[in-house]
Amino acid sequence: VVIRLCDDIIHVFKGMLEIIEAFKSELGVGLGEDTPDGVFSLRRVPHIGMSDQAPAALINDIVVTNLTPEKVPVIVDRLRANQGAAALVKSYGDGNNAHPLVRAMVNNNIRARGEVLLSEFSGGSALAKAMAKSPRQIIAILNDAQLRGRGGAGFPAGMKWEFTRRAQADRRYVICNGDEGEPGSFKDRVLLTEYPQLMFEGMTIAGYAVGATKGILYLRHEYAYLLRYLQSILDERRRCGLLGVGLRGPKGFTFDIRIQLGAGAYICGEETSLIASCEGKRGDPKTRPPFPTKVGYRNKPTIVNNVETMCCAAKIVLNGPDWFKARGTPDSTGTKLLSVSGDCDAPGVYELPFGVPLGTVLERARARNPYIVQVGGPSGTMVPRNDFHRRIGFEDLPTGGAVTVFNRRRDPLEIVGAYLAFFIEESCGYCTPCRVGNVLLRDRIELIAGGKGEMADLEYLEDLGRMVKFASRCGLGQTSPNPVLTSLSSFRNVYEQRCSPAHPAGRRRSFNLSENLTEAEAVSGRESEDLTQ
Ligand code: SF4
Repeated sequence: VVIRLCDDIIHVFKGMLEIIEAFKSELGVGLGEDTPDGVFSLRRVPHIGMSDQAPAALINDIVVTNLTPEKVPVIVDRLRANQGAAALVKSYGDGNNAHPLVRAMVNNNIRARGEVLLSEFSGGSALAKAMAKSPRQIIAILNDAQLRGRGGAGFPAGMKWEFTRRAQADRRYVICNGDEGEPGSFKDRVLLTEYPQLMFEGMTIAGYAVGATKGILYLRHEYAYLLRYLQSILDERRRCGLLGVGLRGPKGFTFDIRIQLGAGAYICGEETSLIASCEGKRGDPKTRPPFPTKVGYRNKPTIVNNVETMCCAAKIVLNGPDWFKARGTPDSTGTKLLSVSGDCDAPGVYELPFGVPLGTVLERARARNPYIVQVGGPSGTMVPRNDFHRRIGFEDLPTGGAVTVFNRRRDPLEIVGAYLAFFIEESCGYCTPCRVGNVLLRDRIELIAGGKGEMADLEYLEDLGRMVKFASRCGLGQTSPNPVLTSLSSFRNVYEQRCSPAHPAGRRRSFNLSENLTEAEAVSGRESEDLTQ
């Protein structure tokens, strides 16, 4: 029985450290260890997509939410009685979480429904409209709607589809990115649970528009509890002529979808790593160009769009670009799904039009004394109270959807340190700026948080953060210093309060070089000469 305890900062603030201690004491092992009889394995995991019902854990593939230290002995007793992890689920969550193929205690926590995503949809309705149009017309509709990718970067979806369609190749692929690895994000979980028809329909329309015959849904392993249910939806679509060889569409068009399970790596949310993972390879990012629209899955042109983008595309085809553009702002059309969690009384999923002020989101989520709001997950922006008037959208506060609320009791430096620890763990290690730079950033943050920093450290953090962003190879390293840089700009006073004036001789005065080289000398088998003496 593998017990994976989610220890991202939201879960920690909700009491995960006490729960970890309770499991350690019940099982008599530490984190990362197995019990001597080999029955239990206790692990930590950075983000399981349950920030709205933290603290939570995965026990084998069963999600256990709203843990307390008191529940831990009961859970361990039941598992010891060999009842199986599924027996821990005594009541099911709402909606399809109670479906016979899901049976999860997870709740959707849908707090605000919009008209684009969290609304009625009849499977096949958008596809029927798409099949009456040419592939070019569909791409023109997406361009007219100005649909931008919902992952955060906001690349125009129609342009991506057009590049893929135009690339010379004998076959093309469509991939839907269901990795949702950004700590604090869980809205794709709700789309996958309640609107899989909409997502699969978006993928099928994409296949038709670009001339692909195969699609892949990349499903993060943390959502493996949805796998059988999603497969049943694919089967249903095949039976109904919405997928597979019997697909009702223009002559010669066939399209089918398979589901690829991830294995828990954040970097596999990056499209080139995701493609490598789909090919059965280690999920390492590739240097771009060439972009996947030209050289993607199996070296063929490939669209990669996330779950929310695919759902939007289907609704745009169904209702038209003007309907979509009537929501949002000129630069950020449509609505956005937000995953709101942290110090608020109404955590959950909100579908709101782009352009909504952050303060309105906080009011609706009944945020308690908000002091810091992290918009866009660890790689996003740390927003202070004075800036709660800022608006969600590509022109102001872009986000993949995570909005994490922290109250006055929370320490910005602890949050930044936790986010950096996440990036250090998830870095693939390929390039030095990311692999080493994030460690150096974290070490300096810890120094300052421990009261041993100097004002010069702030400049060091800024310089190093900018360098890591500039010199890293992929999006992980290009955004990982954001918590440092945005907190330095928004909460500089907090940093300054922790720093002491520089000692004339600097920190090095108390550093004993010879002492610190002892271990290296032992390893290398030779002595060093201290030239500073
Ligand atoms: Fe790997 Fe980080 Fe470099 Fe990306 S930036 S390739 S995750 S080491």
